[in-house]
Amino acid sequence: ANSAGGGIFASLNKAQRRAVTSEASTVAILAGPGSGKTHTLTSRAVWLINHVGIPPSDVLVATFTVKAANEMRLRIGKALGGGLEKKIVLGTFHSIARRYLAAYGQRIGLRQNFGIADDSDSRGIITRICKRQPAALEPAMVRGWISKRKARGTSDDTTKPGRGGRNVESKALEECYQEYQAQLDRSNLLDYDDLLVRCVELLRKFPSCVSNIQAVLIDEYQDTNGIQYDLTTLFAQEKRRITIVGDPDQSIYGWRSAEIRNLHRLLRDYPGTDEVSLEENYRSSSSILDVSLKVIQQDTDRYKKALLPVHDRGTRPVLRHLRTSTDEADWIVSEVKRLQLMSGGMVELSDIAILLRSASLSRHIESALGRQGMAYRMVGGFKFYERAEVKTILDYLRIIHHPDNNDALARIINVPKRGVGDATIKSLLEEAERNSMSLWKLLVKHCRGERWAKTTIRKQTEQKISGELIRLVEGARNRIASDDAAQSDLATIIDKLLKDLKFEDYLKDSYPEHETRWANVQEFKAMAVEFAGSADSQAVEDEQLPEIEGIEQNTDKHILGRFLANVSLASDKQKDDKDGDGKPMITVSTIHSAKGLEWPVVFVPAVYKGSIPHVRSDDDAEERRLLYVAMTRAEALLYLSRPMFTSGGGSDALQLSPFVADIPAQNFLHKGPSLDREVMLKVAKLLRRDLPPDQDIYKGIPLLTGLEDDRFPIDPNEPKADNTRWAHSSHQGQKRPRLQQASSAE
Ligand code: ATP
Ligand code: MG
Repeated sequence: ANSAGGGIFASLNKAQRRAVTSEASTVAILAGPGSGKTHTLTSRAVWLINHVGIPPSDVLVATFTVKAANEMRLRIGKALGGGLEKKIVLGTFHSIARRYLAAYGQRIGLRQNFGIADDSDSRGIITRICKRQPAALEPAMVRGWISKRKARGTSDDTTKPGRGGRNVESKALEECYQEYQAQLDRSNLLDYDDLLVRCVELLRKFPSCVSNIQAVLIDEYQDTNGIQYDLTTLFAQEKRRITIVGDPDQSIYGWRSAEIRNLHRLLRDYPGTDEVSLEENYRSSSSILDVSLKVIQQDTDRYKKALLPVHDRGTRPVLRHLRTSTDEADWIVSEVKRLQLMSGGMVELSDIAILLRSASLSRHIESALGRQGMAYRMVGGFKFYERAEVKTILDYLRIIHHPDNNDALARIINVPKRGVGDATIKSLLEEAERNSMSLWKLLVKHCRGERWAKTTIRKQTEQKISGELIRLVEGARNRIASDDAAQSDLATIIDKLLKDLKFEDYLKDSYPEHETRWANVQEFKAMAVEFAGSADSQAVEDEQLPEIEGIEQNTDKHILGRFLANVSLASDKQKDDKDGDGKPMITVSTIHSAKGLEWPVVFVPAVYKGSIPHVRSDDDAEERRLLYVAMTRAEALLYLSRPMFTSGGGSDALQLSPFVADIPAQNFLHKGPSLDREVMLKVAKLLRRDLPPDQDIYKGIPLLTGLEDDRFPIDPNEPKADNTRWAHSSHQGQKRPRLQQASSAE
């Protein structure tokens, strides 16, 4: 090693170093969780830039979640220095594809300012189409079918729809597909799959768009699908400098057509690939790793690879059975409190994650955290942007950005009320369709006095549409076009919109819980402002692809377009682990969105059959991998828990997840760890942190708190015998105060 790579070599083991400095053009690293795959990938990017001399703008790094992409940029930035990381083409596959399409998409016939149809948009369009179909089709199924069809890319050898005997259905599906595509097109929208498909088309026809790219690095490769495989090879072109890292045991996107065989395909398509395996786990204590491996080893089909802990045993993972989900959430919160107290503040809220199989499980957790006033943030699938009040404002912004978005317009044409009924909206949409024009154009034409054929609209309504809606949208569009910075910044546009719509009054008139809804709108605005702030420095550069000779980039882009794309592509409301005031927060996340990340303390609640494996999944192996991903996020402490009965009456028994049931009891603790000084020292060592001196920690804190509370059963068979005990388990119950006393003692 030499100094050209900067300090990066110090933190690499031998195998990692070999991968980082490999002279082979194609490098594949397949290894288990916490073995430093991402660390190695980012180090290789740094090495290629600093040592091989590739300019940062010619390096492309793709990963799976927005959060992981941000984290990577941060890590690379630290090693490179000088803000060079901003020049790297780095992001999720979807965001990278969008950037190329925004810059060059007109060459393949995309219109300017195309919008992105997010999940709910696609769902809405397909539901409407299905209703018109004679064959009874389930919208979710149709959506899945269409998405699969698009996602296959060229890996597809089984594209032909219509397995024998089901031709009627496949014909109907095909029709839905065509219709769906036509509607997206009319609204100038691309859905998530289109972003990838159209980018492949762009790069096939105009490979010069990526002629500068010299190295392609892909994290979480096990979750790529066929079309992403195509993109990878197109980005790399004939230069073939590709680095991929992945772990087949963590493949959790089968439902999105991820294909593990992409790995084998790469090895086949790129002979001479340097394969590196990493066998040490740097993340978790060895007892956490042990139990996690016991879960994944139940899969007998897997490709086995070694994974050895570098850390000590630490504290055994906890497996806890609670009566209901409410009890479970309360227990988690009390355990968090205890942990904070016992560590003398060494463990902060931002060290803790609660990982859920599905977003719908968050209700109990959120309310328990809320009751105790604990700060938390939600990641992944929690649909802030789908709340009605936020969605309405978003839809207005989308119309302002590009008025041809029929769906957005149909949703807001009568919000606030303008006297346009559902039937009228439907008839207008059909009218527009028949005339092959957008709903917006139709409305504008009509209000200019050109009559449309059939739909009748009351004079008063017509005045409202033209006086309020059209004027508002056109006014905003003019301000954006005017280049007047003060008039056209995001905050001003949103403020003006809220004022013109009298949105606060509208909420007051429409919802009893209008205050929360108004607060959400304010939060949305704050996010827009924040985005605009960051755009000055980072996002603008982010957005700009490097100059390539002979290719003109489309650069006319108001921040609004970028903001909307950011909203559609962030699967969630992204924030730091610290909120505005720098206050640390717990992370509540779906397991899918937690991929690739790590926390000192991880809770995985709801490990019961029906939750994991999920009732609606028919792929047990994938569900097992999902649990494995969740467990292997933990560094020092891991808590599994589950309710034993459904909420409410608590009469239906829930079974422990079969993935956990088979693990020998002695691998677990069955109540929270004692968290005495010895345990906390172990935690501190594992996290390479300092534990505050003894006397500070235990001052005034009774040693037995929270968990020893006997309203929580330790033996899963216990509560059935004595149901009366549960009568006391209210939140104000007398058994609680032990912990509360503890916290108020000092
Ligand atoms: P996952 O499969 O979950 O994505 P991964 O293989 O990508 O895991 P990383 O996130 O890169 O693993 O690394 C896990 C942790 O181990 C990180 O905190 C990283 O800094 C640390 N680590 C990686 N390599 C080393 C090393 N050689 N020495 C010390 N720590 C390391
Ligand atoms: Mg990783």
